[in-house]
Amino acid sequence: MAPLKKGDLNEEEKELLEVLGKGNTEEAARLLGNKNVRVNCLDEHGMTPLMHAAYKGKVDMCKLLLRHGADVNCNEHEQGYTALMFAGLSGNKEITWMMLEAGADTGVVNSVGRTAAQMAAFVGQHDCVTVINNFFSRERLDYYTKPQGLDKEPKLPVKLAGPLHKIITTTNLHPVKIVLLVKENPLLTDVEALQKCYYVLDLICEKCMKQRDMNEVLAMKMHYISCIFQKCILSLKEREDKLDGLIKSLLKGRDKDGFPVYQEKLIRECIRKFPYCEATLLQQLVRSIAPVEIGSDPTAFSVLTQAITGQMGFVEAEFCTTCGEKGAAKRCSTCKMVIYCDQNCQKMHWFTHKKACKMLKEAHEKQEREAAKEKQQQERKQKKEAAQAAESISNQEQLMSGDSKEVEPKCEGDKAEKIISNKEIPVLSSPADILSKEETDLTDTAIEKAHESEE
Ligand SMILES: [Zn+2]
Ligand SMILES: [Zn+2]
Repeated sequence: MAPLKKGDLNEEEKELLEVLGKGNTEEAARLLGNKNVRVNCLDEHGMTPLMHAAYKGKVDMCKLLLRHGADVNCNEHEQGYTALMFAGLSGNKEITWMMLEAGADTGVVNSVGRTAAQMAAFVGQHDCVTVINNFFSRERLDYYTKPQGLDKEPKLPVKLAGPLHKIITTTNLHPVKIVLLVKENPLLTDVEALQKCYYVLDLICEKCMKQRDMNEVLAMKMHYISCIFQKCILSLKEREDKLDGLIKSLLKGRDKDGFPVYQEKLIRECIRKFPYCEATLLQQLVRSIAPVEIGSDPTAFSVLTQAITGQMGFVEAEFCTTCGEKGAAKRCSTCKMVIYCDQNCQKMHWFTHKKACKMLKEAHEKQEREAAKEKQQQERKQKKEAAQAAESISNQEQLMSGDSKEVEPKCEGDKAEKIISNKEIPVLSSPADILSKEETDLTDTAIEKAHESEE
């Protein structure tokens, strides 16, 4: 089809753009059924209807336009913006994903040389950045299913592409979840198949780091999954209980508090082995994790998850203790401290949880008692403060402070908490102070050493 001219819109197309803005999908569908309406028509700025819909965050309209053959990679905009860039600017994750699935090229740059991910980051749409950076199309993986160059065989057998793609597009990076995904597919529970998969993941990781539009997030994700696959291979080779054995090791909690030490160490080790020491993301991760004593927050898993998926405010209560899946809602009835997706996840965890359950129950009760006590203290402190304030300020202001005390808005509590922690409680030692030597193997020098020894 000949390229359309900018601003060359007929009446129906003008109407379509108008209807688009109002989000009237029915009317838009009617217009798109009209032969005179060209789905990739351009307004005077070179914007297609899809760009308009993406920018305005109209999900249904984007779907409709794509169904009618809208070109997701049209690049006629006067500043070189694509529909994906507009989606990223709008901050709509769903539309961003939709554009990617429709084949949007993430490497295209606008007239000032920025990619869609960079533009979204520039305007603070970090969720969209995450979506773009985590997206990995099936086509990109399928590249490895064809022999390249002098290869006689493809690096990845065709039958493995589907199961592998499922794992690399997951946003739940819990090691147990990844092992479960491997375990559920008989094609993957095979040493040779896993070797091919992890080799391909390493190649993708390298590509992500060396391409012009470097993607550290995706590189780290590929590397991490590759590491877990290598652990799976070891278990398949060396353990009688195969992958179940690995899952057990990952879940086993230490006697003191049930904390899964092996899991924590394994994730730290995976991060540390990232082959590109100069990567900013690696340095950030190391800085966040190294000072944390094993067993304290944040866990390596939560730091990694946040870096890769951008999941903010990691609320542990929402995530399955066994597999990290979001939306878990079944709580252990005894201790109420752990939460699972379902009975399967609970059963898998019971061998180790049974040892900690009673202790956790006591900890939970103690926590509740202490929270109640602290709340009481805060209230007393607030009352005292309010009384002091009342003495020193005018009548009118006294009234106001009295009001705010009665409704107890949250910020008042926070203020009180700050005052308490500043004046009455000795300052807690920083994580670096309580850091114990043998447990923090994840320092910058450790990384350097690891790289030296590998070379
Ligand atoms: Zn689960
Ligand atoms: Zn329990």
